[in-house]
Amino acid sequence: MYQSFWREMGSQADHAVPGWQSISYFSDVSNVCWFMEPEFASEVRRLHNLVGNAVASEDHFIIVGNGSTQLIQAALYALSPADAPDPISVVSEPPYYSGYPALTNFLRSPLYRWAGDAKSFQGDTYIEFVCYPNNPDGLMNEAVLNSPNGKTIHDLAYYWPQYTAITHTADHDIMLFTVSKSTGHAGTRLGWALVKDEAVAKKMTKFIELNTIGVSKDSQLRAAKILKAVSDGYEIPNPHKEHKLFDFGRQILSRRWYELREAVKDSGIFTLPDSQLAPCKFSGKMTENFPGFAWLKCEKEGADCESLLRDHKIVVRSGVLFGAGPSYARVSMLDADATFDLFVERLRTIN
Ligand code: PMP
Repeated sequence: MYQSFWREMGSQADHAVPGWQSISYFSDVSNVCWFMEPEFASEVRRLHNLVGNAVASEDHFIIVGNGSTQLIQAALYALSPADAPDPISVVSEPPYYSGYPALTNFLRSPLYRWAGDAKSFQGDTYIEFVCYPNNPDGLMNEAVLNSPNGKTIHDLAYYWPQYTAITHTADHDIMLFTVSKSTGHAGTRLGWALVKDEAVAKKMTKFIELNTIGVSKDSQLRAAKILKAVSDGYEIPNPHKEHKLFDFGRQILSRRWYELREAVKDSGIFTLPDSQLAPCKFSGKMTENFPGFAWLKCEKEGADCESLLRDHKIVVRSGVLFGAGPSYARVSMLDADATFDLFVERLRTIN
């Protein structure tokens, strides 16, 4: 979806890497996250300050990761007690991002174990994933548990102005972001965590050290260039062209959401979550939400939404993977234009 924006940007976000550059494992040995490029960190802080979506002052540690996927695992490692007899329970309110159970359980760690629905969890020691706007349903979730012994990981991958109103400046203990969703550069494999507690920041850094000895500098420098281009688009006036990524994203997503809602009406058998309206601090306007995913429900009795859509050549993820029933399915709203148009065309014909 974002490709046409970046094409329009011309060479502004290009990044050439000379053969002699970025050879060492190390970037800044004075930083807790010693493999993080200072340029990347400063563009992260600059962008958060511009958008106002998260507190990113100098007293918050930034940890760079190979996508937020690696940071999810680093955070689980960092928040798990090292000496507990049993693995700590990891929970989230359904529907939750399907990556949480998958990433928590795939190595069968003695440190942590997936325990499912946060709402039915009994106990006071846990790690809770909170995602807002939520993948898959776009809602502004809050933590459902609040024990003093519990920990939360806030996944704010979609808390950017193209998807939702920026209603507040988030200030949680661990906040995860990624270029995959903010700028569209999923292939750069770069995410970052904003972390309040130094001991947690050190343990997350240790995890990444043991897992991949850091994060590609080529990717970090490219991401720094991309984030810089986004901030420059708002902060440096350009008389020739407007290069405003969040406005571009909103424009495309608003058209897509309109088309999808019309197609859902035409089909008559699907429903979607209602749209939300809230004042956005970034744009200064009342703003509708345009989630990165459509959380489709098939209202036909006993329907399996995924297989129904698959029969019509629409590939989606079943609601079952998100802790919901098979009547739900998740569809990406961020695919290329041609793919999205085909999806809506096919959806309209199902009844
Ligand atoms: N968190 C959420 C909520 C996501 O939707 C995704 C990607 N689908 C990720 C984390 C992982 O993103 P990445 O590893 O590409 O940064």
